[in-house]
Amino acid sequence: MKTLKTRHLPLLRTLWVVAIYLCAGWLWITFSDALVEAWVTDSQALSRVQTWKGLLFVLVTAVVLFVVLLRQLQKDRNLLQLQQHQRDALRKRERQLAVLMDNLPGMAYRCRFDEHWTMLFASSGCGELTGYQPEELVGNRVTSYARLIGDEINPALARQVQQAVERDEAFSIEYPLTRKDGRRIWVWERGRGVDEDGETLLEGIVLDISDRKALEEELSDLAIRDSLTGLNNRREMTRVLEEEVARAARYRREMAVLWIDFDHFKDINDSLGHAAGDAVLKNVSQLLLSGIRSVDTIGRFGGEEFVVVLPEKGVEGARETAERLRRLVSDRPVALDSGDTVPLTISIGAAVFPHHGRSPRALSAAADKAMYLAKASGRNCVIMASIAEEAHNS
Ligand code: GH3
Ligand code: MG
Ligand code: MG
Repeated sequence: MKTLKTRHLPLLRTLWVVAIYLCAGWLWITFSDALVEAWVTDSQALSRVQTWKGLLFVLVTAVVLFVVLLRQLQKDRNLLQLQQHQRDALRKRERQLAVLMDNLPGMAYRCRFDEHWTMLFASSGCGELTGYQPEELVGNRVTSYARLIGDEINPALARQVQQAVERDEAFSIEYPLTRKDGRRIWVWERGRGVDEDGETLLEGIVLDISDRKALEEELSDLAIRDSLTGLNNRREMTRVLEEEVARAARYRREMAVLWIDFDHFKDINDSLGHAAGDAVLKNVSQLLLSGIRSVDTIGRFGGEEFVVVLPEKGVEGARETAERLRRLVSDRPVALDSGDTVPLTISIGAAVFPHHGRSPRALSAAADKAMYLAKASGRNCVIMASIAEEAHNS
């Protein structure tokens, strides 16, 4: 509205000035002629005065024109200087921004909030991050950014971004990305929605966090794994047991726990050395792992004590599994790198939810007690909790 009004202003002002000039000219000619004719009667003198009067008018007009033109030209020059300054400043800012973008770790982007995450701009870091050059992604020319993310993850990310856009907040998301060379990397993205001509665009940066993710995975793995055998550690087994007992209670199902202890393991350490003992532990761990279903969980509870959690197994099922594991170990002497073969047997105590205990603690205690009964019964056998019957004793 304002620009529309000011567009007519120069023409109006010019018309005003011309009108004033014409009025002043007309008034000057009319009144000066009348005055001169009243005062000067001699025709020669009148002619000279008229000439001087004309010269005076031209002189005054020239002075006014000079002042007006000078002011206008000075204004024009100031305006041109200002424009030049602004252009220089803009160019400088663009250069700074380009240097910043090119040196950013990762990629700065601007994209549409559509199903393809259509790129409108990607900084040169795009090449290093995704393997695609910016011009390959911009406008989905070679592929869309959405294809790098994959259909399984896109909807969940879109929901997160949508929520942030609705709240007019920045969003931070982490997701895996498939690079041009097929390598899968993890990235962290921070951005926010910006409104441009009624369309919501997204602007932000994307960083490669694969190293951090690998470290996180390693750490979380360390937190749940036993470093010697690679099986679950005591803490993880406690968690799994709690989870499975809770699940069995919720769905009124059975589940079983096996408590395993190696027989006379100290003798192996004493005769062959601690390193050989470790090798036996590792070897038998893998043997036990190979003897259970994928839904079962095995872990090292400490020393040469192992715990197996068997979801959905009742008394008979638990006994069968325990018996199979016992036979697996006793039938296959452990072969060491040194060439020695070490015969080994295990004793197993089994307890079943809800018959022998309704809490993880009660169930563990029942299985542990059964295992000691197995030891007392001559080892290399399976004993079911509380029933205290010997399932096998070779
Ligand atoms: P039992 O049949 O009564 O169980 O006899 P055992 O000798 O196995 O006795 P126990 O279970 O009480 O002793 C466990 C031994 O396991 C004690 C220790 O020397 C050994 N041990 C515990 N942890 C490790 C380990 O990480 N590496 C090695 N090499 N030996 C271990
Ligand atoms: Mg033992
Ligand atoms: Mg022991």
